[in-house]
This record gives sequence, C-alpha cells and structure tokens, in this order.
Amino acid sequence: MIPYGKHQIDQQDIDAITQVLTNEFLTQGKQVPAFENELQQYCQSEYAVAVNSGTSALHIACLAAGVAHGDVVWTSPISFVASANCALYCGAEIDFVDIDPTTRNLSIEALTQKLATATKIPKAIVVVHYAGVSCDMQALAKLKAQYGFMIIEDASHALGGRYQESPIGSCQYSDMAVLSFHPVKSITTAEGGAVTTNNAELAEKLILFAKHGITRHPARMENPSEDAWYYEQVELGYNYRLSDLHAALGRSQLKKLDGFIAERQKKVDWYQQALAHLRLKLPTNPESGLAAWHIYVVECVEHDRRAVFNALREKGIGVNVHYIPIHLQPYYQRLGFNPGDFPVAEAFYQNAITLPLYPGLELKQQQRVVDALESILA
Ligand SMILES: *Cc1c(COP(=O)(O)O)cnc(C)c1O
Repeated sequence: MIPYGKHQIDQQDIDAITQVLTNEFLTQGKQVPAFENELQQYCQSEYAVAVNSGTSALHIACLAAGVAHGDVVWTSPISFVASANCALYCGAEIDFVDIDPTTRNLSIEALTQKLATATKIPKAIVVVHYAGVSCDMQALAKLKAQYGFMIIEDASHALGGRYQESPIGSCQYSDMAVLSFHPVKSITTAEGGAVTTNNAELAEKLILFAKHGITRHPARMENPSEDAWYYEQVELGYNYRLSDLHAALGRSQLKKLDGFIAERQKKVDWYQQALAHLRLKLPTNPESGLAAWHIYVVECVEHDRRAVFNALREKGIGVNVHYIPIHLQPYYQRLGFNPGDFPVAEAFYQNAITLPLYPGLELKQQQRVVDALESILA
C-alpha cells in the first residue's frame, strides 16, 4: 500500500539520536534549547517553545492567550479535532466558521459576517493553514484590529511554507503559531510540537504552562527567594516537555526542511498536470507565498467519493480523507452542533480524497496513483 503520508529518516537523523543516548541528559539537556533556537531562526520569530505534541502546543497557546471559562474560541470545521479541543481543555466554548471552497481555509467572508452579528466576540480564533496553504493573514489582521480577538495559527500543516515573503511561524500577523512534528508533518520528532511568538509575555506564559506552572525566576515569585533549591508553582501547568532525543531528531530534520518542501512542491506540480484531464476538482496553488503541501486533496465532484475511495484502496493506494468536519463528531454533536451547520465544509468532506504525497514518494508510485484514478473514473 502506498501511504498517503510518510516521514523521511536518514542516517544523519539516526546518528543524531544515538549520540544523545550517550549524553549526560536524555531530557532537559542542551538539545531542546538548541532546537528552539534553530526553529525560531528558521521561522524568523522572536521565540519558539518546543513541547511534546502539536496538541499540547495548541493547549498552551490557548492558555497563554487567556482562554478560559466564559470565553468562546472559533476555528475551522475542516481540521483535525485538536484545533477545537484546545479551547474545551481551557473550559471555553467552541464555535466554527465555514470554509472557503477554493482555499479550503476558514472563509474570511463567513468570518466577517459572523463577527458582525456575534453576541460574543471570540477570545481567540484558531486559523488552520489547511494542507499547508496559508490563510489570508492580512485580512485576518484587519478583523483582529477591529474586534480585538487573538489569532492563533494552527500551522501544523504549514511549516516550511510562506505567507507572502514571511516564513510560516513568523507571527507577522498573529499572536502565536502552532507547529506539529508528527511523522506525517513537514518535519518530525516522532511526537512533538512548538509554539512561536514575537511577544515576550506570551513566551513566558507558554514556558510556564508547559512546565507545571513552575518558575525559578525570583521576579515571577510571590515570595521571592534566592535559595538555590527554591521554586514556586504560580499557575496550574502541565508536563508538556519535549525530550532531548526528540529535539535532536528535530534539529537534524530541520536542516532538510527546505528540501522536503521542494520535493512536495515538485510532486504536487506533477499531479496537477497529470490529473488535469480528469473530472476532479484539484487544489489551488496560492497566488503568493509558498504552500508546504502537507497533503494533496482532490474533490470527486462528479463521482461517488466512497466508491472511488474504496476502489483506490483496493488497488493499493493508501488514500485518506481530511477531514470529517469536527462539528459532526459525536462529541461535538452532543455539544449542540448539527449536520447542516457549516454546509461548505460538509460538501467538501463529501467529496474529498487525500492522495499519497510525501518527500520520498517515487514518480512510478505517483504514476500508479494516476493510472488507478484514470481507470476508476473512466
Ligand atoms: C497534526 C495536527 C495537529 C496535532 O498535532 P499532534 O502533534 O499530532 O498533536 C493539530 N492540528 C492539525 C491541523 C494537525 O494536522
């Protein structure tokens, strides 16, 4: 089976990890701060805080944004459930904004309308750069200036891409950006994630929430003490630390990130050409910037998606669907969401199929995917 996504590990990655195994520290050593430093430089942000998953990163980003009971957070229904769960972890309510059928990102038009009629302005909006194509950050920043919400980018799909001239994660138009290093993402640490920001106060809160809410800085203490053993827990935080083993892998992977993205772009360009004659709706390359192409999603607008999906699987093509709209999950329907609430997202879901795409995907495998689609759709 050709998988829909796959990590790329080489000998350098393996050596980077095995070297750490003989270090003095397996966690809380030098690898994590070095990884954070390299990430922050790559993203051109002031700060980067590495944690043990993208989900943890979303959680501490919401906490740092001050999301709490009584607040509401908005996000896109076409995302992984973690983009919405993070608000619920903080005791806040969640609501969704329908997507744009072309970019598949949260629709600026729908957002503008929803804000104009909202009884409660969201504390934060989690914007997802679906498939690695950036949201319209300038339009979002304008609405932020008007309404005063925080912008958290869920950039789990987008590391290595650009919005206009800026790297994703630069937070030029947002408060924070969340990254994931799950094996199917742009780079991997096996499990891992990070938050980038340009705001010193947010960075300090992110670190606090990722490390039990414990501080060792006398200036942050309620009863400051210079005693070497002394620390204070000043918030309810979590153990969301990344280990040095994971960070060493991340550092090694980060060196290859631009090459990975170039490979993804090359394969997307090839698919776009090879599939153009089929009755499928293909993704749109962004007009400016650079997509990180986390996934390549086509829409079966004239065929039964289930039948096409099953036929592809039977032919050994490991297709997938990204995503079942979050508000249709049983847990979210119990919160009061219903089918029909976000019709553009639901229509997209009905037709979407994720085709294999990853840096190591071979041309003959891509050809197999196209041949299979041609015969199935004929
Ligand atoms: C992968 C992903 C996450 C969660 O990341 P983990 O590292 O798996 O916790 C969150 N949001 C989106 C959009 C993702 O694709």
